[in-house]
Amino acid sequence: MNLKNKFHGIMSIALLDVATIFAIYSIAIKSILFSALYTLFVFVAFGLIIYTFCRKCKTRNDCSHVFFGPITRLMPESRSKVYSKSDYYITGLLVFLVVILPQYWLWQLTVLPYLYLGLLAVIGLQINKYVCAKCNNTACAMCKKKLIVTS
Ligand code: SF4
Repeated sequence: MNLKNKFHGIMSIALLDVATIFAIYSIAIKSILFSALYTLFVFVAFGLIIYTFCRKCKTRNDCSHVFFGPITRLMPESRSKVYSKSDYYITGLLVFLVVILPQYWLWQLTVLPYLYLGLLAVIGLQINKYVCAKCNNTACAMCKKKLIVTS
């Protein structure tokens, strides 16, 4: 993993943090309780993604997103290093929920929803073009170097 990919890995996490703050803020305007629940959900969702996905990553000691790989050291070792379809479904569902849940509140504002979607587009581009393209986790379906999916 070279410095350019690390840069995009770190930047994509930083932009995700900004987008999440926008989402939390948009909910907090209407309800502090829902905002707190959403914040909690984001932490739980990313904890589960790291547990489900990153724990099996063979390049987690050279993690392109820098922080996720080292967090797996606090978790029990995964017996398998192969991703199953359910790993992808769980990860995809959690990402989908993190993005979709704040939409109702975001779209009650004028500029913020467009900024939020713009940030997601930049994050997606960075991950697809720079992070996954050079990642050596060849067991991951998003890795450009190899494609392995098991049932
Ligand atoms: S490279 Fe990707 S899958 Fe591997 S630990 Fe880092 S974030 Fe997780």
